[in-house]
Amino acid sequence: MRKFTDRRVNTLSFLIIAVVMDTFATKIVCTVGPASSTTGTICPMIKAGMNVARVNLSHGNRSTHKSLIDAVRKASSITDKPVGLLLDLPGPRIRVGKIRKSSIMLERGAKITLSPGDFEGTQNIIPVDYADLASEVSAGDDISLANGLITLKVDRVKGNDVICRVVVGGLLFSRKGVNIPSRSLKLPAITDVDKTHIRFGIEAGADFFAVSFVRGPDDVRVAKDLIRDNDSNAMVIAKIEKAEGFRRLKEILEVADGIMVARGDLGVELPIERTPIIQKRIIEECNNAGKPVITATQMLMSMVNSPTPTRAEVTDIANAVLDGTDAVMLSEETAVGSYPVQAVKVMSKIVQEAESAIDHRAVIRKHRENLEPGIGEALSLSAVELALNINAAAVVAPTRSGLTARRISRYRCSQPILALTGNENVGRQLLISWGVIPIMCRTLKTAEAIFRKSEEIVLKNKYGKIGDQIIVAAGSPTSPKGRTDIIRVLTLGKSQ
Ligand code: PEP
Repeated sequence: MRKFTDRRVNTLSFLIIAVVMDTFATKIVCTVGPASSTTGTICPMIKAGMNVARVNLSHGNRSTHKSLIDAVRKASSITDKPVGLLLDLPGPRIRVGKIRKSSIMLERGAKITLSPGDFEGTQNIIPVDYADLASEVSAGDDISLANGLITLKVDRVKGNDVICRVVVGGLLFSRKGVNIPSRSLKLPAITDVDKTHIRFGIEAGADFFAVSFVRGPDDVRVAKDLIRDNDSNAMVIAKIEKAEGFRRLKEILEVADGIMVARGDLGVELPIERTPIIQKRIIEECNNAGKPVITATQMLMSMVNSPTPTRAEVTDIANAVLDGTDAVMLSEETAVGSYPVQAVKVMSKIVQEAESAIDHRAVIRKHRENLEPGIGEALSLSAVELALNINAAAVVAPTRSGLTARRISRYRCSQPILALTGNENVGRQLLISWGVIPIMCRTLKTAEAIFRKSEEIVLKNKYGKIGDQIIVAAGSPTSPKGRTDIIRVLTLGKSQ
């Protein structure tokens, strides 16, 4: 089993106090919401292994978003552990409006009309928040409501109304999502509402924005341009949840900083039985591209109401780790569930156990066969292999942009990857990369200073002891950002 050292970082003074414990390399993203809105809940979630807090902007309002972010920041400061902040943009999601008495039962065979407008939905007519729905569908189209729970078939279109039959019935609640899998809607990926969310998120210091319903690289570019125009270097995570997005994954990967396998909508937009294979394909493509990937949705769904998971959920999480995911994500489990802390604890245990079965040599072999040209990749792969061969205590990766650490992470290093960085943002952005432990450190100006500091940090944090060997993989301080061109083996306490 990997023995990692957890550390506390005082980012202001760069003092580092080590706390040794067994931990794991796979990152955990937790959606925060009404069930996890206070430091009383978020602090134990962080201690249990949460690395990144996700705020789903599809729910709540500006005031609830702000107070969730404040609570996360406060909890991070109380626990003295960095937590990344991911804001998930709603995107071109069509929703039903308000339903009278909050829910209605749609019976199989019943006739129901979807109509744009701001009125209360009944058994006969349901409001939707998309004015052009009628012009985008035609007779025979399937419409899914509530993440595929309910299926309607379009009978006919009359003016702005879409008249349907219920094919699969169920209980419909207010504000549930509407999917039309057979159609690529004209709605832009980044809506006007998303733009206001992005501006708000940048003010709030978001580390990541997740873009929903990405169909191609341009959708990611629009978000990136807006973010850069507002002087933020927040990473853009493309959510793959549409057939078109999956088809254009390679192109999307060239632009996006990371990917989310958004299995909720993916299982509605594409036949649900394809989800496992699509997940494996997406993870593999991300690993090959060296971009972090988050596997999301319903990972511990039963724990919304139960303190223990099902066997199938445990197996699903372990398989995602073995597939090569960088991070796993909790949604309702931590946002609205009854056992948010317990869910993180359970997830931590599962990933830790699954990681013990990773065949690091096989990963190295596979990557060597398709190694990208360039010194940085070759050197990073060598560092990972060397660390495994000499049973190094850690790989230290001083990094200005985060790239060196991400390169080492890509090859699933069997040792902790200590990313020394002088930039808090870069540090938090590494919190979705497998095995990377960001440690704040002032910028080091010479190769000798890098080696000295690496030893000092490893010893101080108890990642290794005198006599242990460590690997340092870095870009020389005089090289441009992002270049990895130094590799060095140091014996702790004996190298200078
Ligand atoms: C998903 O569909 O799996 C997802 C993560 O997105 P959302 O929670 O916005 O539906």
